[in-house]
Amino acid sequence: MFEKTGVAAPEMVLEKFPSVERINRGPVAVVECYQKIPCNPCQTACPLGAIEIGDDINNIPQRDEELCGGCGLCVSKCPGLAIMIVDGSKSPDSVEFRIPYEFLPLPAAGETVLGLDRAGRPLCRAKVLKVLNPPSFDRTPVVTLEVERKYLYTFRNFRREAEEHG
Ligand code: SF4
Ligand code: SF4
Repeated sequence: MFEKTGVAAPEMVLEKFPSVERINRGPVAVVECYQKIPCNPCQTACPLGAIEIGDDINNIPQRDEELCGGCGLCVSKCPGLAIMIVDGSKSPDSVEFRIPYEFLPLPAAGETVLGLDRAGRPLCRAKVLKVLNPPSFDRTPVVTLEVERKYLYTFRNFRREAEEHG
């Protein structure tokens, strides 16, 4: 299924998520890298050694949820846009996501956008909280969004409303 569509099945996604207890303590990385590929910027970007690939650069990265401080430095460094940050510490009803977003124009803080699932299907409304795009991110902006908690495992991307209507 994944080989054909490129869309991870729910059980594959769950394996990449930290525990709910960890998510509720504060920001933490979800590293959705599913295939063996020669790549390791996530490991080299992490100042805390929380992502490990090991001696073989083809290994799938492993993120240590206790070592990860949720700084987000790895998010813009992943060429596959495979990393996001989740933070469940702000509210019992919502989760904050920090995701890489390479479409223009970028949204603005305060904007409501259409949340999408991993297959690109409309899922929910999401509120843009922050947009970061410094030169050090090398043209991979990172957008922080507030999403209803029930979409913790299904929200993955978004589309601006203007794009939704054409
Ligand atoms: S969010 Fe920060 S601490 Fe966590 S894995 Fe990424 S770079 Fe490391
Ligand atoms: S940088 Fe991204 S694509 Fe490369 S190994 Fe790390 S998570 Fe996978």
